Amino acid sequence: MIDHTQFQDKKIAYHTLGCKLNFAETSSIVRSLHEAGFRKAKPGEQADLCIINTCSVTDMADKKCRQAITRFIRLHPTAFVIVTGCYAQLKPNEIASIRGVDLVLGANDKFNIELYINHLEKKLTTQIYNTKINTVENFYPSCSSDDRTRFFLKVQDGCDYYCTYCTIPYARGKSRSGTIAQTVELTKQAINEGAKEIVLTGVNTGDFGKNNGESFFELIQAIDKIEANVRYRISSIEPNLLTDEIILFVANSKHFAPHFHIPLQSGSNEVLQLMKRRYTRELFAQKIQTIKTILPHAFIGVDVIVGTRGEKAAYFEDARQFIESLDISQLHVFSYSERAGTKALEIEQPVSLQDKRIRSEILHAVSDKKIKEFYLSQIGKQADVLWESTKKGKCMHGFTENYIRVIAPYNKDLINTLQTVTLMGFSEEDNTFALTVK
Ligand code: SF4
Repeated sequence: MIDHTQFQDKKIAYHTLGCKLNFAETSSIVRSLHEAGFRKAKPGEQADLCIINTCSVTDMADKKCRQAITRFIRLHPTAFVIVTGCYAQLKPNEIASIRGVDLVLGANDKFNIELYINHLEKKLTTQIYNTKINTVENFYPSCSSDDRTRFFLKVQDGCDYYCTYCTIPYARGKSRSGTIAQTVELTKQAINEGAKEIVLTGVNTGDFGKNNGESFFELIQAIDKIEANVRYRISSIEPNLLTDEIILFVANSKHFAPHFHIPLQSGSNEVLQLMKRRYTRELFAQKIQTIKTILPHAFIGVDVIVGTRGEKAAYFEDARQFIESLDISQLHVFSYSERAGTKALEIEQPVSLQDKRIRSEILHAVSDKKIKEFYLSQIGKQADVLWESTKKGKCMHGFTENYIRVIAPYNKDLINTLQTVTLMGFSEEDNTFALTVK
């Protein structure tokens, strides 16, 4: 039994790096610490406990984590410092070598912080608790909101796919999730807390339910039945798990937004094979066609990686042509980053930094063209906007159900509300596209 009186009025400062999943997890960790007596340190106030939840998706991410850790140690020199998250799971010793870190907690251990912080007593050496990742079975649901209305609900964790370039299975373990009943309860909780939009988030979201004999399709059907003024988005789903029945269901559902985010990673079958992805580009093209036939106004965001080992110039060119031919709305372009311990390192022919940069620029240009075309095609249509962010006195912006960014003169009464609007003219400011509305 932990004596919670020791935590009364102790102050926490925290920082999250990486994906929405990490943000959701930090929120849940902090929430449980609040329940134990901690409170958030005010700006400029010395914290008693610092938590840095890290990411390790690239070398650059590792570097940013180290910088964040040293910054926190400098700002809170007397605080007890905990580092957790993917980087902490993958490279705990690297973190422990940073002077001032008290505790390094791995993927499974971060949800039990209270067990490790007895009276926030600093020891002479950094302590590391890092459960072997292949033994991690527990699923910890988490939820966060980036403002008062949009919530990110973690419905699934881990991945069993082992794509050759990816470290996530080593950082987050095997695929697992809660039950449908538990997830529906969490969704209702988020709605009661004011959610107007909930993004279902996971590492491999479509794999939901595998450990319980349930399925992602059954989950979205159950969630859609909740009576509430709310809309849902599916954060990202592997093309081989995005079944026609899911697409059809989204098209006919009351609450699911016509918005898909699908990782393609490469438009070349040769490269997909090197990556050990579980589909061909033909299957991918078929999914896009199905979506667009049933839901012509759906927004489709697609992840791609450039410069993977083995991506010859001819493969890239073939991929570019294929990607250009797809009826998609936006690309999220990533440059391949070498990760220790991955199978990709066995592939010969690394791509030079310069070629990676050029390929990235080419695909960014394709993305700009696609998003512009998509936005222009929607002008004159009606849509529901969730006004969610503001620039006081100037303008506010929000997203439609099909993920079009829209702007309008600021009106404080509309913030955090859903409004039906007509999509009007195209606007481009600082390389950000938007539509005006009426
Ligand atoms: S499916 Fe995604 S998370 Fe899983 S191994 Fe592949 S890239 Fe990584």
